[in-house]
Amino acid sequence: MDVPKEIDSVVWNEEKKSWITKKIHVEEYHGFTECRYCQKPMSHNVKINGEFKVIYTKCGCSKSD
Ligand SMILES: [Zn+2]
Repeated sequence: MDVPKEIDSVVWNEEKKSWITKKIHVEEYHGFTECRYCQKPMSHNVKINGEFKVIYTKCGCSKSD
């Protein structure tokens, strides 16, 4: 499996009151959780700046914007 170095993460922006896409630089990759509907990655378990985080991405069925 290819280990992603960068992931387009979807984060909530409180000022804009909307979801924005933010490029995350991944230090260590520890797998993902797949969407139960489209089987595409929905969240990734990664290490960023020495901290373990779960970051969210747009899966195949969340294309509404
Ligand atoms: Zn999905």
